[in-house]
This record gives sequence, C-alpha cells and structure tokens, in this order.
Amino acid sequence: MFHVKQQDYPVRLGQVLDLTVTGYASEGQGVARVEGLAVFVAGAIRGETVRVQIEHLGHTAAYGRILQVLEPSPHRVPPGCPQAGACGGCVFWHMDYEEELYAKARRVTDALNRIGGQSLELVPIVPSPRETGYRNKAQYPVALVHGKATAGFFRPRTHQVLDVGRCRIQGSAADRAKDTVVRWMRDNRVAPYDEKTRQGLVRHIYVRTASVTGQVLVCLVVNGDGIPQEMALVENLLKNVDNLGTVVLSIHKKPGNAVLGDRFRTLYGPGYIEDRLCGLTFRLSPRSFYQVNHDQAQQLYEAAVELAALTGTETAVDLYCGTGTISLVLARKAGRVIGVEIIDQAVADARENARRNGMTNAEFRCADASQAAAQLAAEGIRPDVIVVDPPRKGLDETVIDAMARMAPDRIVYISCDPATLARDAARLNHHGYRLTTAQAFDMFPKCAHVETLVQLRRTGEP
Ligand code: SAH
Repeated sequence: MFHVKQQDYPVRLGQVLDLTVTGYASEGQGVARVEGLAVFVAGAIRGETVRVQIEHLGHTAAYGRILQVLEPSPHRVPPGCPQAGACGGCVFWHMDYEEELYAKARRVTDALNRIGGQSLELVPIVPSPRETGYRNKAQYPVALVHGKATAGFFRPRTHQVLDVGRCRIQGSAADRAKDTVVRWMRDNRVAPYDEKTRQGLVRHIYVRTASVTGQVLVCLVVNGDGIPQEMALVENLLKNVDNLGTVVLSIHKKPGNAVLGDRFRTLYGPGYIEDRLCGLTFRLSPRSFYQVNHDQAQQLYEAAVELAALTGTETAVDLYCGTGTISLVLARKAGRVIGVEIIDQAVADARENARRNGMTNAEFRCADASQAAAQLAAEGIRPDVIVVDPPRKGLDETVIDAMARMAPDRIVYISCDPATLARDAARLNHHGYRLTTAQAFDMFPKCAHVETLVQLRRTGEP
C-alpha cells in the first residue's frame, strides 16, 4: 500500500502517461504502477501498454482513464454488450473469458496469501456453464430520466439510472417484466421515487426467474402502501411475461440503499415461486436469498457437499442457510442437519422446502449466526462438519469462537468476498484449523464478484 500524502504522489491530476498494466484490482480494473503507486485503469488488460489520463487521486491509489490502448493484449475482444463501460453492472466485457477467469483466480489467491497468510499456487477456478443470460435475479432501480419513468442500472459509481434496454447477463423474462412495469408507470403517470426529495412511488423493480420451472416473480418496491391501477399492472404482466408465477408489492418508505422493504403484499399468485436445484424443489419468497446463477450454484453445492465428506450418519451445521438449499443437499447424505438463518421468510421457506422434499432430518433456527452458534455450542452439539456461507462481511469473531468450541473435524466455507474469507481463514488457523483446499467458482461472468469454496480441517495446533 502507498503511504505518502496525495500532494506527494508521483502523478498529478490531469497528467497523461503511458503505463504497462501488470495485474487487476478487486473491482476488475487493470493496475499499473508509477514509483510504487498503484494506478487503477478501468477497461485495461494485464500486459497492455495504455495511454491514460489521471482523473482521480484516492487515499492509496490513483485512477486513470484510457485515452488509447497503445499495445493491446491478445485477450482483448470487442464488447458483447453495447452498454459496456457505461453501465455499472459489468466490468469484464473487454477481455476474453480465459483472461477474466485468470483475473478472478488471481484475486482469490492473492487475498488468501496476503491477507490470510497462506502460501497457495494460483487456485483453480470453475468456469460458469453460461457466460451470458445466466442471472435469475434483476433489481432495476427506477428514476425520472429526461422527464420519463426509466428503469435500468446505475452508471458506474453513481446513482444515475441508465436505460440498459436488453441486459446480456439476464434472462429475457426480467427485461420483459421491467419494460411492462415502466410502460404501466408512464401510462398511469406513476412517479418514480426520488432519493433526494424522498417523493415519488416506485423505487425498484425486482424480478426473479426460476431457471428450471421458468416461473417468474415480479416484486415492485414502493414508497407507499399501495399503487394505482393495481389490476392493470397485473393484467399487463400476465399478457407480456410467460409463466408469471406471482406479483408482490414490497412496502419500503425508509431512506437508504436497501432494495427491499420489510412489509409485503401479494397482488397475484401465492407470493412465491418454485425452482429445482440439485434434484430438490425450493420455494422462493421475495426476501429469501437464492444464488443468481443456477447452473453454477449446482456445481458449487455439489463440490461443497463433497468437501463435507458425509457417509449418512454425521451431524452437520449450516450457518447462513437461506432457504435451506445447502442444508437439504447435505441432509441427503447426513444423519442430522441444523440450518441457521436470520431472515424469517427464508426460514419459513427452508422448513417448507424440507417438508416438500420429504427430508425429516433437517431442522432450521431463525437467529443471528453468532447467537445460534454460541447456543449450539452450549447445548453440547458436536457437529462433524460446519458449513458457512456468510454475506460479504464474513464471520464475526463470536461465530468463529463458537465454531471452534463445537470443534468439527471439517469446516466448509463458501464466500462471496475473498478478503473476508482470507481474514477468517487466518483466524481459524489460530483455532487449529488448516486450509486444505481452495477453489474459485465464477458465479458472475462479466462482473467483478467471485465466489470461493474452501475446506479447513482440524489439526488441533494453532
Ligand atoms: N446458503 C444459502 C444462503 C447464502 S447467502 C444459499 O446458498 O442459498 C447468506 C445468507 O445469510 C442470507 O440468507 C442472509 O439472510 C443470511 N444472513 C445474513 N446475516 C446473517 C446473520 N447475522 N445470521 C444468520 N444469517 C444471516
């Protein structure tokens, strides 16, 4: 990391320089160095020489904009999306898939080694079965753009909504549902929500499509208790969206960036949809987490269950279990599974999912993971395996302490943030767990995020 003050940086704002890109930042930008200072260049590829203009000086790095690619990489490709660069969703359209996979595997490896104190060679990465059209969930922010209700995605590092038209990484049902809602808004003069004034009604259009059953859930997030012309909206959606499973209103009157509110009202259908994953049926409510890339999630869960190494008799704990996806896949091969999840809708889904799939050996607790883990340890539960799949901030120390008290032989950790995974792996090392395998999974082609699966085994020695 660079430790001099910005006024002493070896580059100035506005300066034009020719730089050689040597690697990637966690957000996917190319990284070049000037006298040790990192310069982040969006849209640049490792090995390229690029002419950049410095447009921002950050606390530990400078940011440059490409003026010209002087020596392009053989991995450079014409972007497959007309919004590449303008939309804040994707960052890897300018390179081939091989290089994107390298960037992600490198990021995971560097995090585990530098933050986690491991000494790994480049970890393997499992490519996504599909590079486009793989997402089953879209959350479109809605805003007034040039006087018209518009839904799309935010431009990079802003809250300005860009009308993306057809998003290449989404299935087509999501865009059809979005376009239908936008037309209904324009026809009925329904105002988009304005973050600054906190006026207006529609905040987000959230669409989830079940990959196997094809059922579509449309959830409209509104700053109010209802919407005008409710039935007109439902009828239009029925006309334009094949296999519309349910339409739900989410009431969200608080400021802030959370997409969903806490209250829901069903306008059409049962309020949830169903999908099949790893041979099991899952009910999915709007608030329940569900991996966005169905086919890759199956590969990830199968690999996780393999690392759990179950023979049919073991006890397994699944912390951060969502709708019980991993719990139920584990339960097929375990004696007993205890899932823990904080969102009550997800826990209700998980219990119903166990019932539907005839699994009587899976139980679910609605609680914060640290409280539940401490409780399980206090009850004397000694699982053979603990699986954790936390949100980006990773595990609290209290969760790790309670896991260590339960002393499982194996910990299987699924992570969506390599940096917090690496930190937690180092903490688990202090509790006598050794990292035995690490593998990256490309769950989000074209986007900067990457999923990682690791196994840690108990050695008893810190
Ligand atoms: N394992 C599931 C869900 C993983 S996502 C799957 O693969 O489908 C992470 C989950 O952790 C979400 O469902 C989220 O609601 C839950 N969560 C977030 N914070 C939590 C906490 N403090 N305690 C328990 N669960 C939490």
